Amino acid sequence: MANIERFYDKNYLCGAMFEEGEEKTLTIRQVKREELHIPNSNQTNVMPVIYFKEKAPKKDENLKILLDKNGKQRIEEIMPMGINKTNKNILVKLYGEESTNYIGKQITTYFDPNVKAGGIKKGGLRIRQFVPTAETIILCTDCKKPIIAGFGKTAQGMADYTLTKYGVVLCADCATKRKAAVKSEVE
Ligand SMILES: [Zn+2]
Repeated sequence: MANIERFYDKNYLCGAMFEEGEEKTLTIRQVKREELHIPNSNQTNVMPVIYFKEKAPKKDENLKILLDKNGKQRIEEIMPMGINKTNKNILVKLYGEESTNYIGKQITTYFDPNVKAGGIKKGGLRIRQFVPTAETIILCTDCKKPIIAGFGKTAQGMADYTLTKYGVVLCADCATKRKAAVKSEVE
């Protein structure tokens, strides 16, 4: 599936990149001031743009291909999101007016088909009016209990870390046990 709107501007997150009813909970990495092209016009608009921490899933059309300093290594990121006045007001409600305080915070975005642009119902991206709290529950491979934040990592961070290191997702206790087991095998 590829909504025709996707073919215009692929530099920013837009409603066409969301499936019906889909929500994306994303972590804010950076807030910048940028000039955005207004869809279906030749005008531009200066607005805050939010960059996210999350990497895009492989083959996801929401991703942005970036080159590193040497122009070689490619990093795939979720598209940044232009923040219009309505969404800006929601952000302020959630996290206050100081934009540097947004860094590391999460927002849930979704496509609202009722959003109007220039008096015409066109649909647009909205931020949910609540702080995403319910982290996805990830169960530990060994003890089957939910993985909780620990070692200065979030639950997700813990799962990512153990997956890379041990090939399975583990809670802090089980990761410690596996570490000890690996050690005694070596000795
Ligand atoms: Zn465990």
